Amino acid sequence: MVQLKSAREIETMAAGGKILAATHEAMRKAIRPGVSTADLDRIAEAFIRSHEGATPSFKGLYGFPASICASVNEEIVHGIPSPRRLLKDGDIVSVDIGVYYGGLHTDSARTFAVGQVDDQTARLLKVTEESLEAGIAEARPGNHVGDIGAAIEARVKLGGFVVVRDLVGHGVGQSMHEEPQVPNHGKPKRGAKLAAGLTIAIEPMVNAGRAETRTLPDKWTVVTIDGSRSAHFEHTVAVTADGPKVLTRL
Ligand code: MG
Ligand code: MG
Repeated sequence: MVQLKSAREIETMAAGGKILAATHEAMRKAIRPGVSTADLDRIAEAFIRSHEGATPSFKGLYGFPASICASVNEEIVHGIPSPRRLLKDGDIVSVDIGVYYGGLHTDSARTFAVGQVDDQTARLLKVTEESLEAGIAEARPGNHVGDIGAAIEARVKLGGFVVVRDLVGHGVGQSMHEEPQVPNHGKPKRGAKLAAGLTIAIEPMVNAGRAETRTLPDKWTVVTIDGSRSAHFEHTVAVTADGPKVLTRL
């Protein structure tokens, strides 16, 4: 069932989303060669909890053991932070964070370059972020989820990369994962119709090589099947009569 949010609920999500956006800025400052993904997890959790009433959404969600997902290089999503996973110059790390605040969740991910990355990797990050913006622009009443997916996929194809099809965006609010699903591919005017009050996480995952994925034996970490690098950018967006309102931006 699709749950539409009131203007007041969207305001609350925007307040939680600001905490989330600031957490990503804390990640940006902390990320450098030699830092472990467990360090990032500890910093993010402490930062979120330093805001009265805010807690990390992911900790314990479906049994996930940490406050952030930290996915390095060929890892697409759901990487488990580890003190043994040290970031190196030239790596990329996708950090996915959820914040629960005032009874509502927000969800946002960014991929960061560690030190200096090669040109193709820099382009992968740029194209993925631009595809998210293209998808967000379609999040308006009367459009369909297919309009979002088609816009994302078109930008990614133009950049010479591929979208992951095994994982999708989603409604978000009272629960971290609500209806509808928001795929990163699709056809205009197809799929669930968007109405004012809908809050969705739009989250292109983009691979430099093949689109197929597999899950590591830890049962969490999803990686590219060919070892190519993958980027992930995500915002929580409210569909409003005035157009898309990004809730997880400062
Ligand atoms: Mg997320
Ligand atoms: Mg999400």
